[in-house]
Amino acid sequence: MKLKPLVLITGASRGIGKATAIKFAQEGYPTIINSCSSKLELDNLKDYINNTFNAKCISITGDVSDYQFVEKMFSYAKINIGDVDILVNNAGISHIGLLSEMTYDEWHKIIETNLSSCFYCCKNAIPSMVKKQSGKIINISSVWGLHGASCEAAYSASKGGINSLTKSLGKELAPSNIQVNAIACGFIDTDMNKCFSEEERNTLADEIPAGRFADPKEVAELVFTIATGNNYLNAQVITLDGGWT
Ligand code: NAP
Repeated sequence: MKLKPLVLITGASRGIGKATAIKFAQEGYPTIINSCSSKLELDNLKDYINNTFNAKCISITGDVSDYQFVEKMFSYAKINIGDVDILVNNAGISHIGLLSEMTYDEWHKIIETNLSSCFYCCKNAIPSMVKKQSGKIINISSVWGLHGASCEAAYSASKGGINSLTKSLGKELAPSNIQVNAIACGFIDTDMNKCFSEEERNTLADEIPAGRFADPKEVAELVFTIATGNNYLNAQVITLDGGWT
């Protein structure tokens, strides 16, 4: 029996990353799940997957904005489960506030967590994908990376960087049969948006033609479709926002 490709999902302790890990596991794919500070939640998810689905899961806790950690994560994965065939760069943080009031450290934290981490993971995933002449990289981006958001300039810049990285790297790796695509998410109902009051949520939902926020499972479905689908789809940023932007 042919083994299913191995999937690495960063930022999988909750939200979109967790839903994505469960989707791949449901479909029988072995997974490596990562997050930084929520070790208990991540290990609970690993146990849930291992006990529920016919697919192996290992968890690796650590900060994907730290290059040395990312190198160790890939070496650990290679020894314990194998080379990554499908990379989902999902880990991310947000920051709301005026750019002029943002500190130097806050700026770097956003850029390193959201954008540099993609470079670090891609750099470590690409060599074995090139050797196999096959691989998928899916970057979780945002509509703000396409359009920009007031009071989220650093976040928007980090996601705009991901979009450009996706388009460039997709072209660079196409001759090796590796596809790199991004999903520009609109409003997904996760902890990232728990800062909004009920009133703000209602106003936002009214602005979205679909009249609602997306469930993280809907992002997971699209990640899975891209990862297991057409090899000619490459270097694209696909918007998933209920018609919002
Ligand atoms: P979330 O519920 O806050 O989850 C974020 C995940 O990233 C958590 O598992 C978190 O785990 C992990 N993480 C954060 N910093 C990390 C680091 N340095 N190293 C490793 N893992 C880290 O948010 P979400 O909504 O699911 O967001 C997932 C992705 O979707 C992000 O890239 C976000 O920008 C993007 N997105 C979300 C929305 C939305 O409306 N929710 C819209 C557009 C794009 P720990 O806390 O344990 O580190």
